[in-house]
Amino acid sequence: MAWLRNLARLARSSSSSSSKPANRFGSPVLSVPGFAGFSSAAAAAYAGLGPTVPGQDKPRLVILGSGWAGCRLLKGIDADLYDVVCVSPRNHMVFTPLLASTCVGTLEFRSVAEPISRIQPAVSTAPGSYFFLARCTAIDSDAHAVHCETVTDQGGIGDAPEPWKFKVSYDKLVIAAGADASTFGIRGVKEHAIFLREVHHAQEIRRKLLLNLMLSDVPGISEDEKKRLLHCVVIGGGPTGVEFSGELSDFIIKDVHERYSHVKDYIHVTLIEANEILSSFDVRLRQYATKQLTKSGVRLVRGLVKDVQPKKVVLSDGTEVPYGLLVWSTGVGPSPFVRSLEFPKSPCGRIGVDEWLRIPSVQDVFAIGDCSGFLESTGNSTLPALAQVAERQGKYLCALLNQIAKAGGGFANAAANIELGDRFVYKHLGSMATVGRYKALVDLRQSKEAKGLSLTGFISWFVWRSAYLTRVISWRNRFYVAVNWLTTIVFGRDITRI
Ligand SMILES: Cc1cc2nc3c(=O)[nH]c(=O)nc-3n(C[C@H](O)[C@H](O)[C@H](O)COP(=O)(O)OP(=O)(O)OC[C@H]3O[C@@H](n4cnc5c(N)ncnc54)[C@H](O)[C@@H]3O)c2cc1C
Repeated sequence: MAWLRNLARLARSSSSSSSKPANRFGSPVLSVPGFAGFSSAAAAAYAGLGPTVPGQDKPRLVILGSGWAGCRLLKGIDADLYDVVCVSPRNHMVFTPLLASTCVGTLEFRSVAEPISRIQPAVSTAPGSYFFLARCTAIDSDAHAVHCETVTDQGGIGDAPEPWKFKVSYDKLVIAAGADASTFGIRGVKEHAIFLREVHHAQEIRRKLLLNLMLSDVPGISEDEKKRLLHCVVIGGGPTGVEFSGELSDFIIKDVHERYSHVKDYIHVTLIEANEILSSFDVRLRQYATKQLTKSGVRLVRGLVKDVQPKKVVLSDGTEVPYGLLVWSTGVGPSPFVRSLEFPKSPCGRIGVDEWLRIPSVQDVFAIGDCSGFLESTGNSTLPALAQVAERQGKYLCALLNQIAKAGGGFANAAANIELGDRFVYKHLGSMATVGRYKALVDLRQSKEAKGLSLTGFISWFVWRSAYLTRVISWRNRFYVAVNWLTTIVFGRDITRI
């Protein structure tokens, strides 16, 4: 049937070329009514994928984002039922639970990045399915279209100095655009701190750490400057901040002491947290983490950051903390893109959804993952910003969208009378965090007050590693991760600064 659809598509694009200009996809170039801020030249270049035609095309599912939620959906969607278009500023999914390990060379960067075309081969092989390296800038839910612009390091495409703008019509739209790191409006965070959310952040951290190690060994550097360069400060004592501090202290104990022994007494890690570290875990697990981190040499400081300057952090009580490397990990909040969307929001500012993960005020639009939250009217509380929530929402929506298409509701405005079935219900499977030195916390209870199993120590660390190894998406990356872990145990971490 694919050849028949191709033939139909080809016939349509050649017949449309006489009346409407065709773009590189063979679809009519879209006009841009009411799209302010574009010159006529830019508008002329504003091509895109036009609306699908029932009976000739498959319905088009557009997914914004290639994170945990978007990729789980991409992986399971039936490409015989939908043409799938994924729009995202990155062409891979990041396996975030193992990202901290890449900052110090325990794992290589490629081991935690999964290419989209491997997750859903249709985007690079099926005629109507695509992956676009771009960000969505606006959603026109009346016209069933998203406005996008390319993301490149070098500006525009061809002669265009600006990012290339285009439009994609959808039959079903899923917003899975994640969240942004919270900075609480503190001055200097964006300029001087490094976040830990993407592979390029981990690369930046690793380069800076190794650079500082080498600079501190140069003759003539003062004692104070040496101490500053080798002071690694982590802001935020949630699981990510704790895991990163644990990895860093492991790196210092095992690798720096052996291979940078000139400066081993200067390097330190400080973890600054306004409240308790790992506040989502119970007291016993928190105390264990505190003891382990302190044993590994991590200095725990209770404090509130007021100001971030190029070489020091200022706390609200006036304490100044000089740093050479500053990593910011204080949780997430809605991104500017999510804030810009004029959909009803959940109480914490995320895109508001009902129990089927639909945005009830518009047709055919869904939101999943960190960018979404239940509307107050559903009576459900907002789910935590976790991969396990995002992944399960992606899986649920995938089944729902496949079911809708099978029932004949795949095209725009065609699903109004379709029975949706069960609502999305989230059941927490537990939490885990490593604290370095082959130790971890595993809490298999639904909440910290509930009864159930919680473990600490080496066995937990083994459970942590095994669990994540099995969760890595592809066999290729599972193999990479296992080999990286083995290489690190046998030869130590990679300390080359490339
Ligand atoms: C270092 C780290 C460790 C973590 N560890 C754990 C853990 O151990 N367990 C756990 O459960 N959770 C963990 N998390 C949290 C988990 O990663 C997130 O909850 C999860 O990634 C959310 O998935 P998502 O798909 O909603 O968003 P993301 O995974 O953040 O993906 C969002 C996607 O949207 C894209 N995007 C953004 N803006 C646009 C736009 N305008 N147009 C199109 N695309 C856009 C982004 O590029 C990205 O591809 C961790 C997070 C981090 C950062």
